[in-house]
Amino acid sequence: MPGLEDLYREIILDHYRSPRNKGELESPPAHRAEGFNPLCGDEIVVYLQVEQGDDGTEMVSDVAIGGQGCSISQASASMMSSAVKGKTLAEIDDITRAFKAMMSIHEHELDGSETESDPAPEVKLGDLEALRGVVKFPVRIKCATLAWNTLAQAVDSDPNAG
Ligand code: ZN
Repeated sequence: MPGLEDLYREIILDHYRSPRNKGELESPPAHRAEGFNPLCGDEIVVYLQVEQGDDGTEMVSDVAIGGQGCSISQASASMMSSAVKGKTLAEIDDITRAFKAMMSIHEHELDGSETESDPAPEVKLGDLEALRGVVKFPVRIKCATLAWNTLAQAVDSDPNAG
């Protein structure tokens, strides 16, 4: 029987070889942000179609991912795109915090906006669990989190700002 590490490696390679939601969305109306990890040369472009429901809840109705880079960065972007598609912005915030908690990153270290006492949300991470092993390689954590930082930028961006 293959070990968990082999299973994780297979999941990462599957997303790297067959990236989900690869492509572009027209922007505007789609939100768009670019991320770059100079340590490894990874590039990620995130396109988000954000729609408002009848109850005023904003959700990501469509997502597309562009860019290039190492297997960790591109697999993470593919997994991220699958995880956020069809989710509300509040749900996406929870998934992002749960993922970063798994990556041993505390929000307050990144932007100072959260307190350390905030517990990580209980969220099922699915395929994203495969990136858990990356924590053992600190230099690769930036590869794994690049897609998520770019996602946050895309959410915050104003698609009509030009
Ligand atoms: Zn990388």
